[in-house]
Amino acid sequence: MHGGDARSSTMERWTHPVTEVRFVDDRKAEALARLDIHTVEDLVRHYPFRYLDLTTTATMVQARPGTEATIVGTVHDIKVKHPRPRLTITEIALVDSTGAVIGVWFNQPYIAQRFRVGERLAFAGRVEIDYGLKQMRTPFVERLDDENGPDTLGRILPVHRTTEGLSTNWMRRLVSEALTLGGDVADPLPVSLRREHGLMSLRHALRAIHFPVDADDADQARRRLAYEELLTMQLGLQLRRHREVGERPGHAHRTDGTALSRFAEILPFDLTGDQRAAVAEIASDMAAPIPMNRMLLGDVGSGKTAVAAAALAIAADSKTQAAMMAPTEVLATQYAGKVGPLLDELGISWRLLTGSTPVAERRSVLSDLADGSATIALGTHALFQDDVAFSRLSLVIVDEQHRFGVTQRLALRAKGEAADLLVMTATPIPRSLALTVYGDLDTSYLRERPGGRGPEHVVTEVIARSGRAKAYDRVKAAVKQGHQAYVVCALVDESDAAQAKAATSEARRLQERVFPGLKVGLLTGQMRSSEKNAVMQRFRDGSVDVLVATTVIEVGVDVPNATLMIVEDAERFGLAQLHQLRGRVGRGQHAGEVLLFADARSDEGKRRMQVIVSTNDGFALAEEDLRLRGEGDLFGQRQSGLPALRLASVINDIDLIALSRIDAVSLVSDDPHLVALEHALLGWEVSLAFGAGWEWVSAG
Ligand code: ADP
Ligand code: MG
Repeated sequence: MHGGDARSSTMERWTHPVTEVRFVDDRKAEALARLDIHTVEDLVRHYPFRYLDLTTTATMVQARPGTEATIVGTVHDIKVKHPRPRLTITEIALVDSTGAVIGVWFNQPYIAQRFRVGERLAFAGRVEIDYGLKQMRTPFVERLDDENGPDTLGRILPVHRTTEGLSTNWMRRLVSEALTLGGDVADPLPVSLRREHGLMSLRHALRAIHFPVDADDADQARRRLAYEELLTMQLGLQLRRHREVGERPGHAHRTDGTALSRFAEILPFDLTGDQRAAVAEIASDMAAPIPMNRMLLGDVGSGKTAVAAAALAIAADSKTQAAMMAPTEVLATQYAGKVGPLLDELGISWRLLTGSTPVAERRSVLSDLADGSATIALGTHALFQDDVAFSRLSLVIVDEQHRFGVTQRLALRAKGEAADLLVMTATPIPRSLALTVYGDLDTSYLRERPGGRGPEHVVTEVIARSGRAKAYDRVKAAVKQGHQAYVVCALVDESDAAQAKAATSEARRLQERVFPGLKVGLLTGQMRSSEKNAVMQRFRDGSVDVLVATTVIEVGVDVPNATLMIVEDAERFGLAQLHQLRGRVGRGQHAGEVLLFADARSDEGKRRMQVIVSTNDGFALAEEDLRLRGEGDLFGQRQSGLPALRLASVINDIDLIALSRIDAVSLVSDDPHLVALEHALLGWEVSLAFGAGWEWVSAG
């Protein structure tokens, strides 16, 4: 364990039970436990979720409608009204010498019991005007009598989360006592970093986050503490990366070979600027004798495959082998169709391996990979089965990597000696998340759309139930012009089997009643892969006009002649998924239309529909999605083992995230085990933050 000797006695006191804090008796300890506060540190770090700023209060007459304000006055009147059955309105009139403001609560009659006429209160909230009277709806209320004392005015009061049996005032007092006992703690941030970023000391920050002298003091405290949280997380990620790849020498690929230079010549198009930049970044990583750990992010249709193919050419030039893995058989087969001919033209030998490769062929593929007579393996999960061996695997490419677990990624990578890794994703992860959840990966972005397909290339509309017939006419019109269409009818919350059933009956309905003159095909996740391949083939060669599908088509299906898509029950999809879906049309030179059948009832559903119609930029959508959903369980969901963030926000703290990542990279490169005296406390913090995960974080 790092840093044990650097812990001061105060630091040790942090881990002591919260009952050591003055005034915390058994009953209060029980209440605190309900808030998950067990130690002195837990209480010190029980940061306020808001402040009540009594340094800048407004009088009743000054409080301007349409603005946020804090007002202080005396309760003049308390009323509970019942205008309708099942509706109660509680009104508390607060007055000062200039006038009155009324606090209003709906269906919370108990509020009336909490306060009494003559009491001094502060309200904080938005001032509104109703029937000529100023009011605040469900304002935040603070009682200013008794416990707060006369010196409360002119101060900024922290508001902490509390629980039954513990008032806000008591919570403030307990936090203050915890600071007295344990607030004098050694600072894990090296002085040099603090100086460089103008960050206050930990002691100062802990005091100021709870009891700031002014708003700026609180902001600076939050910034300092959020930075420390983020730095701790980034250090954990960088230490993990270092452990995974850092100490073994990687392949120094040659990037001046003929396959790579001829590759650009045989492509039927010029690479976009973003594609060229990504290839350059990958080439430079591959040339370095350190294993590459890179993620290529690009919207559907941004041209990731060509970039991946360039990386394959580099491996071939280096006389080593590469494997490229897709999440589905349909996709793997598409690679073979698109990348295969390019490889053939460059004289690079390749094989395809999937779950349905016949036994005899499989045997010959395995032998070609094992003895090195095949250079490139394209395939699915089948590639990391135990009996698949390579003679000199130096590059692993994983497409749609979120569909694979970290262990699967590692399993494939382990088939080579310190192989380079390139993961690709069409899920437009917001930059802040890419830097945190995937902070151990470097990133390359494809933002441009190739082939002159700008943002107007795909138009999205929301169609209400009444517009169905017209929408079907547009399908007929598109087919008449020689194009094809998708109808996606996936019930998002249903099982695969139920989805398949819904799609199957919809396909029948469309064929018999709506499009009797057209050919309707069906693609569901339940079908056998030979059936899937067959229907995809018929869609590709144009013998199916309308393909009814569940979300199997979400990933990577590429039929440039398909120009129209209908999505049933669109309001039930998430933004990211809708965006993935719509990426299936407008892939050729023809513009695409996406018709979302939706009768959104919920506000959130309506907002999602507005957002998806208004932008085609996947990264902007992803940011918006994050905002709509909130950051809630992001970390738990995507990748376990990351510490929770108390203060830092992946939505609002992008600058701090970027800063902390740069600092973590440089700290770990200078001191890969964080053993230097000035880093010992940081190392200790990382070990605490990552908890059980520390074993794999530490370079042990
Ligand atoms: P992604 O895998 O990122 O979804 P693809 O690699 O499948 O995208 O590319 C989408 C389409 O764009 C393909 O038909 C591909 O041939 C084409 N394409 C890729 N790069 C370019 C380019 N630079 N110029 C023109 N077309 C391109
Ligand atoms: Mg792709």
